[in-house]
Amino acid sequence: MKQTKNTKKAIVAGGAGFIGSHLCDRLIKEEYSVLCIDNLYTGYMENIQHLLDNTNFSFVNHDVTMPMSYDNVSVIFNLACPASPIHYQKDAIYTTKTAVVGTLNLLELAKANHCPILQASTSEVYGDPLFHPQTEDYYGNVNPVGIRSCFDEGKRCSESLCMDYHRQYGVNVKVIRIFNTYGPRMAENDGRVVSNFITQALSGKDITIYGDGSQTRSFQYVDDLIEAMMRVVKIEDDFTGPINIGNPDEITIRTLAEMVIALTKSHSLIISKPLPENDPRRRSPDISLATSKLDGWMPLVHLEKGIWRTIEYFRAKIG
Ligand code: NAD
Ligand code: UDP
Repeated sequence: MKQTKNTKKAIVAGGAGFIGSHLCDRLIKEEYSVLCIDNLYTGYMENIQHLLDNTNFSFVNHDVTMPMSYDNVSVIFNLACPASPIHYQKDAIYTTKTAVVGTLNLLELAKANHCPILQASTSEVYGDPLFHPQTEDYYGNVNPVGIRSCFDEGKRCSESLCMDYHRQYGVNVKVIRIFNTYGPRMAENDGRVVSNFITQALSGKDITIYGDGSQTRSFQYVDDLIEAMMRVVKIEDDFTGPINIGNPDEITIRTLAEMVIALTKSHSLIISKPLPENDPRRRSPDISLATSKLDGWMPLVHLEKGIWRTIEYFRAKIG
């Protein structure tokens, strides 16, 4: 880490990624000194370029599946893991290794520093849920041997590790289950629905709906997630979560496609492609726990407004 006057030191593993880079921005604003650890597997230096000259910000190119040692750390955020289906399926074994061994190494670091660790888990731990909306006490409906299992089971195991580090060593863990999040700095090539639809609409290509488009998701703008993360690490030590962080407004993928076409005034056509294996049919968080634990937190950015900001980002990026 660079020499800094800031006394609060945060580690953000996965800090060069989409969500991680927004978190680094927020921590710098709140006068933390930030160490971003990332091996750029799916992240980009471009996301943190504007921070590199800041004396309170350091970057280390490191793979979290290898152990690490740092002192005087005040808080750790573990976001290091490929997150979109095409990226986490590219090398499924490495995804499991990152989710499990990476989390283990960061838990060891939290234990050595006696500091809290926030684990970025996912709504994917619910799999293709049979109950709606999903509450934290629902155990999920996950295929343990499918093409999404490396991510879903990897993240489930990382949650289990967090709880065992809490029970066995008293580590202050905070497990958050993040639901679909979007916004500027999403990778253009990661195949997620929001980035796909926007880049397709802006470049006049066909908009690819997988299946009939009646499947639902609920989309959260990245700023709302970052606000929740900052509040979660301040909750009392013995609160471990898991806690759902997402936007409960559920929409179909077809409606999202129509919204993107309308906002971009695109002439793109909507076409159908096959639905990927084990693609969840419905997903929506129950956020009552988050609202009560996080001083009334709830998502504030309306979907159209957030999609508009994301369109502006991609328009500037891809022209
Ligand atoms: P992202 O791919 O943009 O960011 C992940 C970051 O982790 C990248 O910068 C990548 O280079 C880094 N990384 C991956 N493997 C690594 C390794 N072995 N060592 C060091 N760095 C590594 O994805 P994101 O959308 O920003 O997601 C961040 C976290 O949030 C992930 O853990 C993801 O599972 C979780 N999450 C995201 C969403 C979402 O909708 N974006 C939803 C649920 C959970
Ligand atoms: N999807 C789609 N077209 C695309 C990309 C995704 O219809 O070009 C669908 C996908 O099948 C899923 C939903 O949109 O039903 C959300 O996909 P994403 O990969 O963004 O997130 P996840 O499936 O992990 O929730």
